[in-house]
Parts: sequence; C-alpha cells; structure tokens
Amino acid sequence: MVNPANSKKVRVRFAPSPTGDLHVGNIRTALFDWAYARHTGGTFLFRIEDTDTTRVTDEYIAAAIDTLRWLGLQWDEGPEVGGEFGPYLQSQRLDIYSHWAEKFLEQKDAYRCYCTPAELEATREAQRAANQAPGYDGKCRDLTPEQIASYKSEGRESVVRMRMPEGSTTFVDAIRGEVSFEHKFVPDFVLVRGDGSPLYTLAVAVDDILMKVTHVLRGEDLLSSTPRQIRVYQAMGVAIEDYPIFAHLPFVMGQDNAKLSKRNGEVSIAWYREAGFLPEAICNYLALLGWSPGDDRENISMEELTGLFTVERVNSSPARFDMKKLEAINADKIRALNLDEFLVWAMPFLVKSQIISGTDTEIALVKSALPIIQERITRLSEIPAMLNFLFAKNFRVEAESVQKVNDDASKAVLKRALDELTPLAQWTHESIESILRAALIEELGLKPRIAFGSVRIAVTGSTISPPLFESMELLGKTTSLERISSALTL
Ligand code: GLU
Repeated sequence: MVNPANSKKVRVRFAPSPTGDLHVGNIRTALFDWAYARHTGGTFLFRIEDTDTTRVTDEYIAAAIDTLRWLGLQWDEGPEVGGEFGPYLQSQRLDIYSHWAEKFLEQKDAYRCYCTPAELEATREAQRAANQAPGYDGKCRDLTPEQIASYKSEGRESVVRMRMPEGSTTFVDAIRGEVSFEHKFVPDFVLVRGDGSPLYTLAVAVDDILMKVTHVLRGEDLLSSTPRQIRVYQAMGVAIEDYPIFAHLPFVMGQDNAKLSKRNGEVSIAWYREAGFLPEAICNYLALLGWSPGDDRENISMEELTGLFTVERVNSSPARFDMKKLEAINADKIRALNLDEFLVWAMPFLVKSQIISGTDTEIALVKSALPIIQERITRLSEIPAMLNFLFAKNFRVEAESVQKVNDDASKAVLKRALDELTPLAQWTHESIESILRAALIEELGLKPRIAFGSVRIAVTGSTISPPLFESMELLGKTTSLERISSALTL
C-alpha cells in the first residue's frame, strides 16, 4: 500500500492544461494548492501541461498566467519566474518524457502497440456486446519479433503502452482515505502517441517526481488516473516514500446539483473579472467552497486563509456554487475598499465604457462620486451606468424614462423644484434635500417616490442612480437646473 512519509518540505503544484480560459473549478484547485503551500511555508509550483498541442494554445497559456497573477496566487516556481526544476512548460520537456518512455520499453514495463484505431474500436464493440468493461485487451503485450516486423512492413504506426500488472493499487488519499483500484479496470494505457508526443499520464507523473512534488491537490475528476500515475512512478524506480501524497478535491456542483459545467453556469474567471468581481471576493468565496476554517464565517482574508488552511478541513462531499453568495461577498469587499483603492478598481471600467478618458478633472470628480455609490453596487461593472450622468456630453433622458416625466403631474413637480432650487445659494445635498422635501412632500403632499422620482429622471436621465441629493450636489447647480428645465420641454 502506498503511504508516503509526510515529513518533507512541502512542494505543491497547480498544473492546468489550458485548453480554454481557467474556470471556477481550476481556480479553486489553484487556490487550495497555493494556500497549502503558504500555510506550510512550502513552495508553490505552477506548471503548464501543454502536451496536447491541438487543444492548448499560446493565448490560453498567457491567459492562465495572467489570471493567476490577477488573483494574487503568486507562484514560487513556474513560467516567467523559473526555478530549479524547469522548464515548467511541458512542451519544453519533451525529450525528458521520450527518455523515460524509452527506458520503460527497455525495462519491459511498456511495450509498443500496433493496433489500429479500427481494431481498437472493434475490441471495444465486442466488449460492450459481452457486457465487459471497455479497455485495451493486451493484444500487443507479447508480440514476437516476426509479428513486429510484419506490422512494421504494413507501415503501421505504434504507440507506447504501459503494462499494468495483475492486482490492484491502493493509496491513502488525504481527503477520502484509502482508495483502491483493481487493475482489471485499469487497462494498459498509452504513454506516447503514434507521432511520438507524450500523453498527460506520462508527463504529469514524470514531472511530479522530477520536480519533487510532495502533495498533489487536484480535482476529483483525476482520481481514476492516480493508479496509472503510481504505475509510472514504479517504472521510474521511485521509492514509495518519494511518491507525492494525493488529495482529491470534491467536485463543485452547479445550483442544479449537476457537476458545474458551462451548461449550468460555469464561466471563466476572465468573465468574472470583466463583470466586476474583485479577486479577493473570488478567492474568499472559492476558499469556502468545500473547505471550512471550522466555523461558519463567510468572510475570510487571504492571510486568514493561509493561516488556517489544512487539507484535513477539506470536505469530502461536493460543494455547491452559489452566485448570490459570491455577489454578496463581492459587495462586502467593494465596501471594504478605501477610496484610493476603489478609484483604482473603478477607473478601467469607466474608461473602457468610454464615459471618461481619464483626465485629472474627471478623476477628481469620479473620486468625489465614488463614496455615494460604494454601498450600492455588487459588481464594479455597475459603476459606468451609475456615474454616466456626471459626464454625459450630450445629456438626454433615456428613452424608456421619458414618458415618466412628460405628463402634467410630473411637469408640475419639476416646475416647482426648479422654482425652489433656483434661488438656493448653498448647493449642498442637505440644503437641496430640505428644500425639496418641504416643497414637494410637505406642501404638495406627494409621495417621495413620485416627487423625487421625476427629479431623479430629469437630472440623471434614468430611474437608477446614486442617491439623488448627493448626485445633484456633485453635478452642480447650473447643470442640475439646466437639466430640470430641459425635462420640462419633453
Ligand atoms: N493538467 C491536468 C488538467 O488540467 C491536471 C493535472 C493534475 O493536477 O494532475 O486536467
């Protein structure tokens, strides 16, 4: 039984195959890997598993690096930072995998298989018909030199397959305890394709050993590849105490209880970034998805996470992704920003939506406006719509709101507001509020929603805006009054 010693300095890796943008599931794994390394004072490695060149692109690799950086999951070894055991892109390590595949062939741990895709399919078909588990039947395990010569003369390509001995593999998973796989369900597997390129199972196992990885924390979907990886370690002649400890994280489920996937809401971290989620909010939320610090808190900082993170506290049952919770945490994190930080986060959203170009005057106005919206937004992407009224060059009331201010009752409200506000000397939100309350609510007896609703549309162009009186103060007297007058002509 595989039960490696646990006394070495921790080295833990995040090893995605970037066949697309990184998703919630990947990032939760990365976060736990990082937190475990930081908690133990160990090393966090970042390795790009890009041997499947048909699916992994340079663009996705660059995006993965960027996403990890944005989240603040700084790696100690990996792309861009290097390290003692590099390179950390598997596509740059192909000679290493060929070397080991050759060695396994020499040792007879592996063999060349000449079966064609059509033959393999026929075998699978027969297995299905006989109700047997599908998998390679070992046909090429013990070919004679004559058979090999004959296959070669037919011009057949060969793959390299690992020989799985009879028996079973048992290992202790740090989250789910002892796990066993009968080898009759782990058929001889391909290490190297016909074109000489390595498969994931070979590359991942070789690298985890050569990079001296002590802990493999990764998604549960990879549990069943563990016995194959252990088989590679054995063929490499690795001592059991040098095998990494495995910890398979439970699946993340969607709201519908199915495994989180594109279909039920799994979207890329790049999407969350554009939608205005803060990295601290994503990390906070994902940290508590399947792991608990031992109480039911919903807010946790990165420092607290690294202080408290242990694999023992990872739950073995699936976690459920809840967008509402993530949004609530994001709103909390936005509220916790100081003004300068909030400004730094807000600016790109405003510039990207072309509401401002970023001049000093604009920045100053944004800075004075941010406090009035800080309590009100859940995502940073709401900022442009909230602050647009302050910067709009050709201001207009939005089409769907026009009919809410062009009836006689609204016009009467606006007219009265204009009359009251025109002589107002001190243009502060307090004075604006008190004068409008006295005139519209107390004297005219209107409901605040009706009275202030019309003024809000006139001044901000929309029914949704930051608090009205503060907005008017920021906008200034001249512009506010101009807008009310022009609403009277709608
Ligand atoms: N590269 C693998 C994947 O993205 C994960 C490797 C591992 O964690 O063992 O699916």
